[in-house]
Amino acid sequence: MRIGIYPGSFDPLTNGHIDIIERAGQLCDKLIIAVARNTSKHPLFSMEERLEMLETCCSGHNSQLEIVAFEGLLVDFCRGRNVSFIIRGLRALVDFDYEYAIALMNRKLAPEVETVFLMARSEYSFVSSNIVKEVAYFGGDISSLIPQYVHNKLQERLSRKT
Ligand code: ADP
Repeated sequence: MRIGIYPGSFDPLTNGHIDIIERAGQLCDKLIIAVARNTSKHPLFSMEERLEMLETCCSGHNSQLEIVAFEGLLVDFCRGRNVSFIIRGLRALVDFDYEYAIALMNRKLAPEVETVFLMARSEYSFVSSNIVKEVAYFGGDISSLIPQYVHNKLQERLSRKT
């Protein structure tokens, strides 16, 4: 059984993430989406909210999907769950340096775990959770870049903040 893992902050989930999830699902028998607790110091959405977004928007797409919270070293988690590859999305050159360094470090720590990069679809290659939050904060229309469910949650959260 080929188990892949797609780790990230998903703060919040975007259509770019969903595209990677759908495509990664074709490459493995089981895909674990691992929501990182410790990468972002001040996430806009709590772990429970981010998990709920993924469950609501993605579980229908792939029955072999598992959505989990995760903290600590990714490679330790991979070893504990027999994960054979890590999926990462690459949007542009700016992603490359960071992703390259992490992939090499993970290989050093766990040579048996491969990192697989999927190129972002061109229509989402400029989409990041941070940009989506920033544009939404200033009232820009980001409705085509995130799922409706996430859009509602984002509007709700921002209206409470202002
Ligand atoms: P992180 O905090 O680890 O960067 P993100 O939630 O921002 O987590 O992203 C998780 C993964 O998804 C990363 O590999 C990132 O490059 C990728 N990703 C994010 N947005 C997109 C997108 N629009 N298209 C393709 N991949 C993306």
